[in-house]
Amino acid sequence: MTYDCIIIGGGPAGLFAGLRAAEKGFKVAVVERNNILGKKLRITGKGRCNITNNCDFDTLISNIPGNPKFLFSSLRNFSNIDIIDFFNSIGLETVVERGGRVFPKSQKAGDVAGSLVSAVKKNNNITLYMGSRVEKLLFDTNEQQQNSVQGIVAVDTDGNEFRLFSTKIICATGGLSYPLTGSTGDGYIFAKAAGHSIITPRASLAALLSKDLYVKELQGLSLRNISIKLFINDKPVYEDFGEMLFTANGVSGPVILSASAFYKSGCKAYISIDLKPALDADKLYQRLQRDFDDFDRKMYSNSLDKLLPKKLIPVFVKRSGIPSNKQVNQLSREERMKIVSLLKNFTVNISDIDCVNNAIVTAGGVNVKEINPKTMESKLCKGLFFAGEVIDADGYTGGFNLTIAFSTGYTAGNSI
Ligand SMILES: Cc1cc2nc3c(=O)[nH]c(=O)nc-3n(C[C@H](O)[C@H](O)[C@H](O)COP(=O)(O)OP(=O)(O)OC[C@H]3O[C@@H](n4cnc5c(N)ncnc54)[C@H](O)[C@@H]3O)c2cc1C
Repeated sequence: MTYDCIIIGGGPAGLFAGLRAAEKGFKVAVVERNNILGKKLRITGKGRCNITNNCDFDTLISNIPGNPKFLFSSLRNFSNIDIIDFFNSIGLETVVERGGRVFPKSQKAGDVAGSLVSAVKKNNNITLYMGSRVEKLLFDTNEQQQNSVQGIVAVDTDGNEFRLFSTKIICATGGLSYPLTGSTGDGYIFAKAAGHSIITPRASLAALLSKDLYVKELQGLSLRNISIKLFINDKPVYEDFGEMLFTANGVSGPVILSASAFYKSGCKAYISIDLKPALDADKLYQRLQRDFDDFDRKMYSNSLDKLLPKKLIPVFVKRSGIPSNKQVNQLSREERMKIVSLLKNFTVNISDIDCVNNAIVTAGGVNVKEINPKTMESKLCKGLFFAGEVIDADGYTGGFNLTIAFSTGYTAGNSI
C-alpha cells in the first residue's frame, strides 16, 4: 500500500501529526505496535493527564530545559493555548489547576486519550495499523545524492511482515521511559539508520537514589506539606513545597520528580527537607517547648508524636545524636536547638538518578541540530520527520512534555 504519509507510533505526537496531515487532505497510515492507541497517555498525570499548561509563552519556554530554542517555531505554530482549544473543540472540557496545569474536567486521562482516538477514527483519511511493529525504514539512496525515505517494513501480531510505501514518514516512537507502554527506543535505531546522531538518552523527572542507610528504614513513608531544597555541589538549585515519598533505595513523589530535572550525575548532591516549613526556627523552638512541657516526664524518643510521623521518629532520634532514653525535662537548650535544626534541615544524600526506564520522561534523543525546527524534517534524510519524545527535547512537570509532543506532532503533520 502507498500513502501520502506514514506515521510510526500512535502516541500523542503521532496522533496529532496524523490528524493534522489528514485534515490537510493527505492519506495517512498510523502504524502502532500496541493494540490500543495512546497507551502511555492513558497513565499520565497519575491517571488524570496534565494535558498542558495555560501559562504565557515565556513561562512555557522557561519550563523546557531540554533544547527550548529548537522548539520556538513549533510552539509558536501550535501553542499550549491551541492545545486547550483543540481538546475543547473535540468535546473534552478542561480545568486549570495550581500553577496553570490543565486537566480534563472529568479528571480521567482515559477521556483525553478517548477523545483523541475518536477524532482519529472519525477521519476517513487515516488508516490504522494496530499491533504492528515497524522494524525498519526503507530508503532511496540515489535521489540527488541525498538519502530519502521510501517506506517501512513492519511485522503484525501474527508475525507476518508487511511493507507500506510513502516518501513522507513521521517517526513518533517516544523515548525509553516506561517501555511497557511501547516506547523502547526503536526511533533511535531508525534515526541512526538515516544518518542521525543520538544524544545519549537519560532519565529526567525520576526518583533520586540514596545510599544513606536510614532511607531503607523509611521506605513507604510519605511526607506531606514539606519543603525541599536540592543542593548540587553545595549550591541550592531547586526548591519546592508539597509531597514526597521514601522508597527502598531513595526518594520519590511530586517534589522529588520536579527536583530531579535539576540533578547532575557525577556531582555531590543532597536534598534538605524542611519538615515544618510553616514555622521559622524561633516559632518551632517555642512549639517544641510547649510539646515538651506536656511530656516532661517522658523519654525523648516518646515525646515527638505530635511533631513527626511514627515511622520517622526512631530515625530522627538516632540522627539527632541525643540519647533516646533521656528524659525530656533533662534536655539542654543546645539539644533542643539541635532538634529544631534537624526538623528544618533533614538531609538525604543523593547518589544517582533512577534509570531511564523508570523515568517520567527521556532526556536526550535525536540530535536537534539535525532537524529543521520549522518543519521537524530531518536535515539529513529527505521526507523523514520526527515528533515528540524521540527528539532531544524535554520539559519539567506541569504539562510541558505533552505540550512538546502535541506541538511537534502538529508541526510535523502540518509540514508534510
Ligand atoms: C507515568 C507517566 C506520567 C506522565 N504524566 C505526564 C503528564 O501528566 N503531563 C505531561 O505533559 N507529560 C506526562 N508524561 C510524559 C508524556 O506522557 C510523554 O512525554 C509523551 O507521552 C510523549 O509522547 P510521544 O507520542 O512522543 O511518545 P509515546 O507516548 O511514548 O508514544 C510513542 C508510541 O510509539 C509506539 N511505538 C514505538 N516504537 C514503535 C514501532 N517500532 N512501531 C510501531 N509503534 C511504535 C509506542 O507503542 C507508543 O504508542 C508522563 C509520562 C509517564 C511515563
